[in-house]
Amino acid sequence: MTSPSAGHVNPRPQERAIELSAPDISRHRAGNTGVEYVTRLDSGRPGPAVTVQALTHGNEICGAIALDWLLRENFRPQAGSLTLVFANIAAYARWDPADPDRSRFVEEDYNRVWGDDAMYGTRDSVELRRARALRPIIDATDYLLDIHSMHEPCDPIMVCGVVGKGGEKSAAYARRVGVPGHLLMDTGHPAGLRMIERGPFGDPKDSRTAILIECGQHWEAAAADVAIDTTLRFLELTGIAAPDFVQPRLRVTPPAHQHLITVTEPVVARTREFRFAEYYRGLEVIPKAGTPIGYDGDEVIRTPYDNTVLVMPSVAQLQPGTTVVRLGKIS
Ligand SMILES: [Zn+2]
Repeated sequence: MTSPSAGHVNPRPQERAIELSAPDISRHRAGNTGVEYVTRLDSGRPGPAVTVQALTHGNEICGAIALDWLLRENFRPQAGSLTLVFANIAAYARWDPADPDRSRFVEEDYNRVWGDDAMYGTRDSVELRRARALRPIIDATDYLLDIHSMHEPCDPIMVCGVVGKGGEKSAAYARRVGVPGHLLMDTGHPAGLRMIERGPFGDPKDSRTAILIECGQHWEAAAADVAIDTTLRFLELTGIAAPDFVQPRLRVTPPAHQHLITVTEPVVARTREFRFAEYYRGLEVIPKAGTPIGYDGDEVIRTPYDNTVLVMPSVAQLQPGTTVVRLGKIS
């Protein structure tokens, strides 16, 4: 293992290849709900109100590909309704393959404004305006799938909300979806509530359920397949998609087992000098407690227990106060 004093350099994210093309979604602008870029497909029959959201982060284009694909496949629900949301379209409009991170958001992270304090507060931003327009749709949703992708290459992960605050029911639902191989319950974000934690989604006693799929690295081709496949399986489980629509269109082999990772704590950088001990791709299981995994100034960061899982390690946005990795237990 390289020591920090030996001039160990941070494993820098390489330039990521942009394998996916951002679809032209302008044909979905008018929609049919009175809110731009929101389309509702209503069966006219009883059943759940289901919502699938893409572009929570404007640079996560696999979700836009999945929703655009589903609309062009002429999907019609057999029960209930499906609402398809292209969320942060102002950020997506800034998409530039030469500077792909620029389109993540315009003024603030759209996925940190879902607490009532922000939602009904006096603060204003591009993202808050969009969230306020979409809130009635989200608040009327029985089952929500929010489609994301990750900065670093990593196997897909289903984020199931917060331990003790709806995470368990979402994890149970994700097991019934059957993909992906890794499910995650975490501790939330101090910066603000995510959509999957909002209101009834975060209430263990309420049946309304939200899950968030991280499809892989933002711009790898496989992320679009994961987004489409997960959406299809989710729609079948809700009962609004018929198996004979879903099954022929699946494109990912489900895992034999789904592992549940429960995050116990974040590692928050205290200095700009934070370094990982070695290159971690994410989802590594470190067998022994006390193993150094990073260096932050004079501090050595060690695994707190045997079989610590490293969740989404990244120094891409490194500054004091940023979470560089989350640590979890696997079951
Ligand atoms: Zn995201």
